[in-house]
Amino acid sequence: MKRRLLLYLACQKCRCPFEAVANREEGEEILEGWLACPGCQERFPVTRGIPRFLPRELSAAKQATAAAFGYEWTHYAELTEADRAEFLDWIKPLDPAAFAGRVVLDAGCGKGRHLFLSAQFAARDVIGIDLSDAVEAAYQNTRHLPNAHVIQADIYNLPLLAPFDLAYSIGVLHHLPDPKAGFLSVARHLKPGGRISIWVYGKEGNRWIEQFVDPIRIHGTSRLPKFVTRAISLLLALPLYLALKLVYGPAGRRPRLARLKRALPYADYLCAISGYSFAENFWNVFDHLVAPTAFYIRREEVQDWFAAAQLEQTEITPRNNNSWRGTGLRSPHSG
Ligand SMILES: [Zn+2]
Repeated sequence: MKRRLLLYLACQKCRCPFEAVANREEGEEILEGWLACPGCQERFPVTRGIPRFLPRELSAAKQATAAAFGYEWTHYAELTEADRAEFLDWIKPLDPAAFAGRVVLDAGCGKGRHLFLSAQFAARDVIGIDLSDAVEAAYQNTRHLPNAHVIQADIYNLPLLAPFDLAYSIGVLHHLPDPKAGFLSVARHLKPGGRISIWVYGKEGNRWIEQFVDPIRIHGTSRLPKFVTRAISLLLALPLYLALKLVYGPAGRRPRLARLKRALPYADYLCAISGYSFAENFWNVFDHLVAPTAFYIRREEVQDWFAAAQLEQTEITPRNNNSWRGTGLRSPHSG
């Protein structure tokens, strides 16, 4: 961790700033040591460059989700040009200018690709939090960037002050045991006038997943050893890849195939991902089969989250007709 990360951290219990004790350092980077709270004497370790705020008691559901995604993301550590376009699509209508000079929170940073992009978009500082072992990959991918920081922490119990101009959570809240509580926790760390941007699975447009894929995931693939789920994902990704390249891709691109596109099931989403590489398809399938928790969320529920957080200028838009993007501002006059 870089020492300047201390500017943004606070003890979850007594809100005191931490004091850092370094046992091993490299320049500004504390590799091994402790963060100590002078108020309640609580101490949190810094290991392999990452401050760890893991709750002592972590529910079985959260542990399983963290383990599932930690597995995926420590094995998938490349950053591509397509990631940039996709990130900007997830956070529409925000653009790179929304990051410049801002303090940014990446709530559920996984292996850190959005963290990396936020840092490239010239955020003053961007802090990625994740509960899973994917933080190891996130840290390795971003430690050379002076404005990027990674902490391992629970989204419900963030060891952070509320300095954020922008907080985003992409594809994370629907995997939490209580998605709304996760949203409210992130929103609490916005400063007055700060913006939140989220993307979640929609209830609308995902009935077939709920009917056919979810039972397999819940009773089968999320409980199997990961290498078995990988093998199953590989078997499913192969015909999916062929369908995307041979049918959905052309149908999405060529205006004279518009009738075909209308006849295809789930066309908006599958045409949109038809450019994915085989590896991206594989991990997408794996993602849907491995998560122990996944909620599909109605537009009104998303609206309710924003209302409950008393956010202003809320904008909720569909993405690929099967998910929701939402953004809103904390009132500039809120205390
Ligand atoms: Zn404390």
